[in-house]
Amino acid sequence: MDYFEKLKEANELTLKYHGNVVSFERALFLSWYCGIADCKFCYMSSIKEKIDKNKAIRNIYRVLAEAILCKRIGWKIEFLTSGYNAFTHKEIDEISQMVSYVVGEPVWLNVGVLKNLDFGSYVEGIVGAVETFDFELRKNICPSKNLEEIIKMLKEAKSVGFKTGITIILGLGEDKTKLENLFKLVKELKLDKIIFYTLIPHKGTIFENNVSPSTIYVSEIIAETRIRFPKIKITVGPWIDNISSIGLFLLSGANALTKFPLFKIFGTKVAKRIEQEILYVGRIPSGTVTDFKRLLSTYDYTKETKIEIDKKIIERIIEKRLRIEQFIMEYIDMIKKSVSKDTERNRYHFYY
Ligand code: SF4
Repeated sequence: MDYFEKLKEANELTLKYHGNVVSFERALFLSWYCGIADCKFCYMSSIKEKIDKNKAIRNIYRVLAEAILCKRIGWKIEFLTSGYNAFTHKEIDEISQMVSYVVGEPVWLNVGVLKNLDFGSYVEGIVGAVETFDFELRKNICPSKNLEEIIKMLKEAKSVGFKTGITIILGLGEDKTKLENLFKLVKELKLDKIIFYTLIPHKGTIFENNVSPSTIYVSEIIAETRIRFPKIKITVGPWIDNISSIGLFLLSGANALTKFPLFKIFGTKVAKRIEQEILYVGRIPSGTVTDFKRLLSTYDYTKETKIEIDKKIIERIIEKRLRIEQFIMEYIDMIKKSVSKDTERNRYHFYY
């Protein structure tokens, strides 16, 4: 089957099994600490010596402010994430309950290998950072992030009723003929979702002089995955320097978009272009990247929830609501600044 035939089939399967709605997702970072910090593509590996665990852990009320903003604009929380060994099990459990309460739905976790999976209904799924389908390459790229342990965790998670997913970064130098490894894994683990990122060549890493992979290469991998697994959810994370690839990635089978720097792009021309890319291929975004009314809407901290959240955790959130609102205002100010810079840039282009 040639590329265009794959694209056509993938698009038909996507519309048949998933419809035409596309969601925006955002990974919620809990900390910039990683106990491993040696994955060769990762920004953390470039600052390993400088990481101070105490400073790298984010204020939880900032995390909740970000989650509430995502809720207002209809973005899904892709997962809660941090490096390895940044939190204790109890902390992860409490944070999951807090975020789940404010967004009104269970969350996914991507926080390394979890030994204990005794979470309540506030956790929906567990993600394993597989990172590449070229397992030989993986040994070199992720020397300390053990694949067998990740696979074991995902199997256990599935066996106790959680949904499961994996992350894959394309453009690490993988051999595409090894793609079958990915399909075997999806089948063996009965995965519910797969998240494809494209390489961001971070300064200070071995990839700093590399470039992100070709759009058609990424599109073909998404399409082949969609054809093999028509019902799986596929999220793709194009970086903002590659917005023009969005339409093609959606036609190839992606259902959700991630990796957008929310506070830099909301309401800007880049955001308008993202919406245009989605609409032009006949998809409907379930959230917004431009609607300020939604961004500024009010939020009910005392709402009822059907998710089993510890009452003391809810009380803590309600008690801290002014603090959270303060952080929300800071984020909205950041967005407003980005929009006004964008307007300035446009004025400049207009005159010159
Ligand atoms: S485990 Fe995650 S955070 Fe840590 S170095 Fe690897 S990719 Fe980065």
